[in-house]
Amino acid sequence: MAKDIDLGYGAYGIDTLDLSIARVTAEHRELYRVQNAQGEYAAKVTGKTMFAAQSREDYPAVGDWVEIGEIDVDHTTILRVLPRKTVLRRKYAGKDDAQLIAANIDTAFIVESANRDFNLNRLERYCVLAKDGGIRPAAVLNKADLVSPVELDEMKSLVENRLGNVQLIAISAKDGSGMQALKDQIERGKTYCLLGSSGVGKSTIINRLLEEEAIETQEISDSTGRGKHTTTAREMHFLKGGGIVIDNPGTREVGVADSEEGIRNTFDDIEELVRQCRFSDCTHTHEKGCAVKQALEQGTIDRKRFENYQKLLEESNRFEMTKLERRERGKMFGKMVKNVKKDLKGRKGY
Ligand code: GDP
Ligand code: ZN
Repeated sequence: MAKDIDLGYGAYGIDTLDLSIARVTAEHRELYRVQNAQGEYAAKVTGKTMFAAQSREDYPAVGDWVEIGEIDVDHTTILRVLPRKTVLRRKYAGKDDAQLIAANIDTAFIVESANRDFNLNRLERYCVLAKDGGIRPAAVLNKADLVSPVELDEMKSLVENRLGNVQLIAISAKDGSGMQALKDQIERGKTYCLLGSSGVGKSTIINRLLEEEAIETQEISDSTGRGKHTTTAREMHFLKGGGIVIDNPGTREVGVADSEEGIRNTFDDIEELVRQCRFSDCTHTHEKGCAVKQALEQGTIDRKRFENYQKLLEESNRFEMTKLERRERGKMFGKMVKNVKKDLKGRKGY
């Protein structure tokens, strides 16, 4: 069965026949599952790889292409992670380390629900996160069944106004409407993920795409030998049409902190205007000749969108600050340790 699956070789330019290369299809704490044209194996990173790892990002993640060592029946080792085309990271304000969620995703479907939870800022935030990692975002407006066609159209134009040329598909994972349009977007051998807050319907959509109750049934079925806790692992699902979907629980509270690149991409038109401001500390509120102020007044820039831009930027700056502070503190700590050592040396003579 494993042999029939397109792991995305083409999209990444990997030679199918090169059996020293495999793709990470699941991650479960320190144990990975990797797959290539020959088969599927449990894999651990070697001690040497771990030793060389400086941060969490040096470790493999689902979607990674890796070089594997010798195969012992159904086990192997991960020797090296190949360079990543795209990354999906979660960042926390106040923490240096970003957590790598997955790698080599082509498109992220950003899911938002069309009911009262509908939140444009949140949608935009996930777009920033995707773009920051080089991933193409596409928007999915789920739970279309909960609103009237008129309301749905309103939401759609709100999304289009806000996100511009990001593709938008309205669906109902519950009654199946729009699902075909979503499926049509999924190409063979390409890798996808679903991003969005808890409850917007990501698992329901994946189950629909898989045309089976894959995610839920896994919990009760032990026959696969994967145990009960598989749901906590991130893993790839292979769709019948040949697309690959990475299911990633834990992207619930995604921080955009430090996603400067993504912010720049998402708000390039605003940034263009900001660059024209006469003063670098322009507040775009009362300054004479401020193009941003003018655009806001004329409505060429949506005010809500601008506010979200400022909020995200502020968050990103705050993250930068804490990073700097931590580094400073780290340096001070280093100095302290050095002094203590010197002290000890003086006293004990070593
Ligand atoms: P997740 O946390 O994003 O994975 O969301 P789930 O897939 O667990 O869905 C959360 C809830 O929304 C569940 O009760 C689903 O049955 C419900 N749901 C998902 N999609 C739809 C939809 O299109 N319409 C409606 N009415 N409910 C939906
Ligand atoms: Zn200005």
